[in-house]
Amino acid sequence: MSMQEQSLDAAGAPAIEIVQVHKAFGSLHVLKGVSLTVMPGTVTAILGPSGSGKSTLLRMINQLETRTGGEIFIEGELVGYKPLGNGGLRLLDDKEVAAQRSKIGMVFQRFNLFPHMTAVENVMEAPVHVGGVAKREAREQALNELDRVGLADRANYYPAQLSGGQQQRVAIARALAMHPSIMLFDEPTSALDPELVGEVLAVMRQVAKEGITMVVVTHEMGFAREVADQVVFMDQGVVVEHGGSDIIDHPQTERFGAFLKSVL
Ligand code: ADP
Ligand code: MG
Repeated sequence: MSMQEQSLDAAGAPAIEIVQVHKAFGSLHVLKGVSLTVMPGTVTAILGPSGSGKSTLLRMINQLETRTGGEIFIEGELVGYKPLGNGGLRLLDDKEVAAQRSKIGMVFQRFNLFPHMTAVENVMEAPVHVGGVAKREAREQALNELDRVGLADRANYYPAQLSGGQQQRVAIARALAMHPSIMLFDEPTSALDPELVGEVLAVMRQVAKEGITMVVVTHEMGFAREVADQVVFMDQGVVVEHGGSDIIDHPQTERFGAFLKSVL
């Protein structure tokens, strides 16, 4: 059975399947044949030094970057292209891209909230303007999402009136408001003061418990050790090591061992 047929098999189909993905920016080859399988409802932690291609890989899963080579499947469906009957492919149109992207929520290092909107307005924005949900209903749902991240009492605050940790929790609520089956987190706590990291990780733990598939780029080893089902160590555009969270305590390669020493 081919890789694609496997992906399309509903029973046990991966949430995300990345097959030999390459990415070059001009002559800079940043991903050099990355493969990764993420099963539904699991948490994958991606570790690795700055510049190793972690953000590029996440952005590619969410079609914020095109790929130079390889294939990505989300819930068995080829990302970015439609397979044609004759064995060829065509690029997806904007509507098809939007439909694929709607399965994915993304949280960035910088919170990227709309500064002129309150917390609840930030969370409502996509359901109203992308999802076509009526305002009153969207507000009600947004308040529920804010409650989920422990910020029901901050609904009418503007981003500037919130701490970095609270802003990041609003960003998580905003992503959850579109009911994604997959959440991508790109160093969600790296821009935070140390005392604010814990509250964001706590919300992420809770999201993981709810069974949403998560891929998290992080330097928080405690979180990775405790929450991740799968740990992936990338360096210089390749996956150097992957396994269960136990590999954090038992690195098999010198490069991963050296990296762990540098972050602990
Ligand atoms: P990481 O997230 O692991 O720090 P990135 O994926 O951000 O790594 O970057 C990997 C490499 O790709 C880096 O050398 C970075 O400078 C380069 N890069 C990322 N985005 C672009 C871009 N849009 N144009 C050119 N180079 C880029
Ligand atoms: Mg990055």
